[in-house]
Amino acid sequence: MSLIDDLSAPELAALRQRVEADYAAFRAKGLKLDMTRGKPAPDQLDLSNALLALPGEADYTAASGADVRNYGGLQGLPEARALFSQILGATAENIVVGGNSSLTLMHDCLLDALVKGVPGSPAPWSKGSETVFLAPSPGYDRHFAICEEYGVRMIPVRLTGCGPDMNEVERLVADPAVKGMWCVPKYSNPTGEIYSDETVARLARMKTGAPDFRLFWDNAYCVHHLTPARHGLADVLALCAAAGNPDRAFVFASTSKITFAGAGLAVFASSPANVKWLLAGMGKRTIGADKVNQLRHVRFLRDMAGIEALMDRHRALIAPKFEAVAQAFEARLGGTGAARWSAPQGGYFLSVDAAPGTARRVVELARDAGVALTPAGATYPLGIDPQDANLRIAPTVPSLSDVRAASEGIAICILYAALEARARLLNEKAA
Ligand code: PLP
Repeated sequence: MSLIDDLSAPELAALRQRVEADYAAFRAKGLKLDMTRGKPAPDQLDLSNALLALPGEADYTAASGADVRNYGGLQGLPEARALFSQILGATAENIVVGGNSSLTLMHDCLLDALVKGVPGSPAPWSKGSETVFLAPSPGYDRHFAICEEYGVRMIPVRLTGCGPDMNEVERLVADPAVKGMWCVPKYSNPTGEIYSDETVARLARMKTGAPDFRLFWDNAYCVHHLTPARHGLADVLALCAAAGNPDRAFVFASTSKITFAGAGLAVFASSPANVKWLLAGMGKRTIGADKVNQLRHVRFLRDMAGIEALMDRHRALIAPKFEAVAQAFEARLGGTGAARWSAPQGGYFLSVDAAPGTARRVVELARDAGVALTPAGATYPLGIDPQDANLRIAPTVPSLSDVRAASEGIAICILYAALEARARLLNEKAA
């Protein structure tokens, strides 16, 4: 197809007519499809059903001899920490296995930092005139919601395809009010990008105005590959330590999208000082983690090879859904200039940049045609996408045939909105 911007007025009118007919036909199907939910599909959850029978009535004793049914073991079972050590590269002593949600750990770290400060803080973060976080965008709406909840001002930073714009980050962190930064360094939500080695190294060594600056390093998709290439990631903890900033990174991960999203394990990895600090706060909230869940995860997943084998099975189920989206978009939108979309190598999302000023309209058109999309703007701090362009597509939950149908419908809506905007612009010019 030709670029929309190159079409003459009659060509544009003819194409609009065709696309309006396609939209009407799609809408007439009366479908009800949901592409908003970044969670595992039921068949993915089934892959871990063996967990439901573990650890079993016969053996609920950890390697240390601890009875996992009882209180205690705030930092997590050593064998569970050793398992995560293989994924995150930190030593087991520098790992805490928390509850079922890494988001809770991130929330609590920010709240504790605001109230008490972190190791190296001259004062609690909330004592400054304001607390500021850098928010690479588009990003994860729930990160932004935590900042919004506690009055932390966010500064969006552009993503480049290999992480945030580091010149901009280095300039902004010179301000001592900038205390932290959200990072989803691998298969980022929603852009899918992987931070390059150079980006990670610059984040680790950059000079910050705040002596107690922290990277909130949310490695949620560390083993969630969509291709046979299991992409790696530079070791942020080692790089921070080597650069003389050993306490800079709080690393988070979880098994939410490895085993059960509602009943998995969350994990924190960092420096000895940060681990001690986290445990001091956690110890006031709980007498100990759910060690039954930790033990059954260790017995089920076993080791890195066990995790990789399980993740291969996830990939077999979801990679075709991502391919279906890409195929539908290419077929309808390829060459039109109406949108750019990501080709993620892992993670749970595709990111689409529709024609500027049309994302809200696309979501509205899709809704009217029976396809639920994540609200436009959700991928930006405060829900404000300055370009009104970004859309987050979550293809894992619907069946493959539903993903195919929904993607075709979304592509039609994107084209429809782009043509509408182009026609409006030409009319304004002509007037
Ligand atoms: N971090 C990112 C980047 C996510 O996309 C998600 C879920 O979509 C989470 C964290 C949630 O993690 P958890 O289930 O461990 O709280």
